[in-house]
Amino acid sequence: MERICISDTDWPRIVIIGGGFAGLSLIRELRGKRVQVVLIDRNNFNQFQPLLYQVATSGLEPDSIVFPFRKQIANAKNIIFRMADVERIIPESKTVLTDKGAIEYDYLVIATGTKTNYFGIKNIEKHALGLKNILDSLNIRHQMLQNLELAAITCDLEEKDALTNFVIVGGGPAGVEMAGALAEFRKYILPKDYPEYPYSIMKVYLVEGSGRLLPSMSEKASSNTLEYLKALEVEVILDEIVLDYEDNLVTTKSGRQLIAKNLIWTAGVKGQLPNGINKNHIVGGNRLKTNSYLEVEGLEGVFAIGDIAAVITSSTPNGHPQVAQTAIQQGKLLAVNLMNSINNKALLPFQYKDKGSLPTIGKRRAVADIGRFKFAGYLAWLLWSLVHIFSIIGFRNRLLVGINWAISYFSYEKSNRIIVRKYNPSNDR
Ligand SMILES: Cc1cc2nc3c(=O)[nH]c(=O)nc-3n(C[C@H](O)[C@H](O)[C@H](O)COP(=O)(O)OP(=O)(O)OC[C@H]3O[C@@H](n4cnc5c(N)ncnc54)[C@H](O)[C@@H]3O)c2cc1C
Repeated sequence: MERICISDTDWPRIVIIGGGFAGLSLIRELRGKRVQVVLIDRNNFNQFQPLLYQVATSGLEPDSIVFPFRKQIANAKNIIFRMADVERIIPESKTVLTDKGAIEYDYLVIATGTKTNYFGIKNIEKHALGLKNILDSLNIRHQMLQNLELAAITCDLEEKDALTNFVIVGGGPAGVEMAGALAEFRKYILPKDYPEYPYSIMKVYLVEGSGRLLPSMSEKASSNTLEYLKALEVEVILDEIVLDYEDNLVTTKSGRQLIAKNLIWTAGVKGQLPNGINKNHIVGGNRLKTNSYLEVEGLEGVFAIGDIAAVITSSTPNGHPQVAQTAIQQGKLLAVNLMNSINNKALLPFQYKDKGSLPTIGKRRAVADIGRFKFAGYLAWLLWSLVHIFSIIGFRNRLLVGINWAISYFSYEKSNRIIVRKYNPSNDR
């Protein structure tokens, strides 16, 4: 296989696969250090996953939540970006094989995150829409806008229902935020854009397998979320497992059937691991097992961080939560550990600092579990807005998001709802 062209160096080469929260946090800390850093990602941009649902529901333009890597690493002479899809890792020869060529490493950092887990349900994998990246958001957005137009054309009432109904599976933060945004779309946008529709059209169902929404948060957060979603007329179905999806019918374990042409799947993720890693290193959820120093033990020079990594210790038998803070904190620590390893110093163990959870439900309401402080409503939403605006990469993006939010705060208006690319699943899967 051809080599990817990269200048020779006397410095140790650190290859990082994946420029998500984890990869970028590591890169920031390695800027200007005496190492050659090569970032490989299949996209030429970083994406801000927490706001994907807003792009999907026409709240934000895709451009405002993605940031190009080349802009990110401008002026950092020791950092190189190559756009490629990593297919295989060969630890024995310290080589990474990509769809564009091979590259050798002294240290390898796997930060490839996760992908949607459909749990092997073929019909759902084929017809449902995931919410993991910007392409998924655009698929949801275009399918939704197309189906709303088709619903205006047909006089068949059952078909109208199917075209406008949404079933969201998974009552975690992504599902809850998506349900809230869709319900607000129905409340504020639908009557303006489609005055011909009756009020009862576009039902939003949220199906959760456990007995409460946001099962990883406090009981208080769950009950507040349920109350907020009910106020937005979302039909929440708890203790229910979705088993199949055929002929526009979502079938659940208890035999219930929901008619919808829009099925959004946020019910699970699994690690997206390139080939070549022995299965001894892989634990539940297709995650890479690391020690507390973030090393994949037994693979010399290989480390893992972020969603793909499970730091397994006696106090964390299942690893840490797969959230942005874990990824960012691991990226920062790994920069120290890589430099310590190069300089023959001791490595430091990872200690997670839980900064809390803060999902939003529609506009002006959120629920917050921050340490022992558990609160909900407008104040939580204000905090949510501040945290997210400051977490977005790039001044221009922050400005764009801020302006969009300010407009929609006062007018409930969203971005222009234009169909620029026909949604055709066969193009994307
Ligand atoms: C809809 C949604 C909402 C979320 N909301 C929140 C939230 O509000 N708060 C929170 O804390 N967390 C949230 N999360 C979780 C958070 O986004 C993840 O924990 C975080 O993105 C993990 O970072 P990462 O760097 O490990 O992986 P990612 O951010 O997923 O980055 C992985 C990168 O690897 C690249 N990649 C993968 N495989 C390859 C390959 N083979 N070759 C080349 N490149 C590859 C991808 O292109 C990507 O750039 C949300 C997640 C989703 C999906």
